[in-house]
Amino acid sequence: MAVAESDIVRAAPSPVVDRFGRRFRYVRLSVTDLCNLSCHYCNPAQGCASTHQHKLSWDDLDFLVDVSVNDLGAEAVRITGGEPLVRPGLAGFIRGIRRHAALSDVALTTNGVLLERMGPALRDAGVDRVNISLDTFDAERFADITRGGSLQRCLDGIEAARTLFRRVKINCVALKPTVIAELADFVRFSHDKRIEVRFIELMPIFDEKEYFHAHFISIDDLRHHLDELGFTLVPEGDGPAEGNTTGYGPATTYRVAGTEARIGFISQMSNTKCLSCNKLRLTSDGALKPCLLMPEEIDLLGPIHRRDRAAVGQAMRWQFMMRADRYDTAIAVGQPVGRGMQATGG
Ligand code: SAM
Repeated sequence: MAVAESDIVRAAPSPVVDRFGRRFRYVRLSVTDLCNLSCHYCNPAQGCASTHQHKLSWDDLDFLVDVSVNDLGAEAVRITGGEPLVRPGLAGFIRGIRRHAALSDVALTTNGVLLERMGPALRDAGVDRVNISLDTFDAERFADITRGGSLQRCLDGIEAARTLFRRVKINCVALKPTVIAELADFVRFSHDKRIEVRFIELMPIFDEKEYFHAHFISIDDLRHHLDELGFTLVPEGDGPAEGNTTGYGPATTYRVAGTEARIGFISQMSNTKCLSCNKLRLTSDGALKPCLLMPEEIDLLGPIHRRDRAAVGQAMRWQFMMRADRYDTAIAVGQPVGRGMQATGG
């Protein structure tokens, strides 16, 4: 007699906790290495080595989520890329993974360009939260950073997202000198739109060191500039004294006193939050990584394609449990991660 998937009663997943007490809760999937923009810090000048063929089908990705949730206790999924919205079938995939009652959070990272058009279908499919990348309010600078993108389409996407999703945040990669010149604009935008803006330290993701050294600015320096502009940061909620670390991500968030602005900082280069890291990443070509800035990876393509539940689960446990307490940023600067961010998934 055939047994339907829905008839299978699964044992509760046993929590995966590493030797530093960190519990696996969260899987981040790069669902494509294709992108409709080509940001300098993400994509090397010669372009990403995409084959334009997806090695993992939506069914493969669905299987990975199924193992993560039912066997390893994951509670959250973030979908990223490349640009996830360029891959046809995204809404159907999200609708599928929403069948897992234990999955309390499905989030998306996008450049926003296609969000005005696709937002309603993604909301209906079950996306809870959206992070949208925006590094400047200057149309020319935007086109330069993204190698040809339209600022207006990104802003239209943000506007659409505000009406559609429970939570929307802006991801701003802090690029010197742009971010310094526009800091007050970002605070005003956060206040006006009631959207949290998170400043992310630039990472040396591939072999373009000059770009990294020319544009990197630390979160401490950024805070100094905010201070000079007269903005006072008030820690959010009941978190640690330096600010509250919310949700499943690595940001520390603040309110800007006297305004409705909320500012988050992701200081993964200068002050890592490794000791609260609860996630694993799957690259668009099927490699399981413990971290963006750690070189270790396990090729999961074969086990996923064979639907080898035990092997996938075991590899995920191993990859999570064997993580070092933190990555070494000096090594990360010296030896950038092989594949670009586009394939790894930011
Ligand atoms: N295309 C989507 C987008 O633009 O948000 C999702 C993929 S993108 C790789 C995800 C995030 O990674 C974005 O917020 C992007 O700004 C960030 N990112 C990419 N390269 C980075 C780098 N070298 N350093 C810091 N953040 C980076």
